[in-house]
Amino acid sequence: MAGKKSRTAFRVRVTLLLCVLAVVVLYAVRDVLVRHARTEWRRPLDVAFVVVTQPGVDASAVAALRARVPDLAARLTSELHRYRPDAPAPVAFTLYGPTPLAEPLPVPEDGLLGAVRYAYGLHRFTGDIDGRLGVPKRGFDARLYLVLSAPTDRAVVEGMSEHGGRIGVARAELDADTVDIALFVATHELFHTLGAGDHYGPDGRALVPDGLAEPERSPLYPQEFAEVMARNRPVSPTSEQRPESLAELAVGPSTAREVGWRR
Ligand SMILES: [Zn+2]
Repeated sequence: MAGKKSRTAFRVRVTLLLCVLAVVVLYAVRDVLVRHARTEWRRPLDVAFVVVTQPGVDASAVAALRARVPDLAARLTSELHRYRPDAPAPVAFTLYGPTPLAEPLPVPEDGLLGAVRYAYGLHRFTGDIDGRLGVPKRGFDARLYLVLSAPTDRAVVEGMSEHGGRIGVARAELDADTVDIALFVATHELFHTLGAGDHYGPDGRALVPDGLAEPERSPLYPQEFAEVMARNRPVSPTSEQRPESLAELAVGPSTAREVGWRR
């Protein structure tokens, strides 16, 4: 009798666990499908563009950056139209902020424990900002956080984003002259969340041909544009320049394939 009882209890436990597993799998499958739909480009992606400031950032530069976001959207539209002339605009930004940085920026760490710590740090970081600015947790295809600091001697231009995820975090130093560069960095991180990889090598220089905006250009150098995942504009086989304006931002064929703009 006791054996039958414990067998029944065992079956109940297994059934419960299987139900939990099924829910987890269904949720994961749904999330993959929804995220995959983001790269079909039948409608603009809804992106929350969240501006976060560290102490000392020039408020007028922040205002100029906010005012420039529609130009970034237009630039991305014209780049998509190189590959799909009839496609709708790829991105619709909703601006939030600026708000001061309160929680420390999460730093990616190695290993499983590091990944858990990073995920928790990211959750705290975004939760704090979203709460203050009223950014909804659901409804956006991606949330992009641009953390701005005052210029120092050592230019900080970097980011950390989930590859193919929903959250992009970019850091940039900002003054009146670097508004477009900061937007370039933010776009780089946004494209990581859409599945694009880095197109620069260990030396920081653009990979050939993946890091070129126009790999078919003849002569190849100087390139006219800076590829979004390579960051700089190659002007010769051995030298490149940082972009100065959004007009130089381009999405090269390799990145276009990675985010689904072309097959
Ligand atoms: Zn990157």
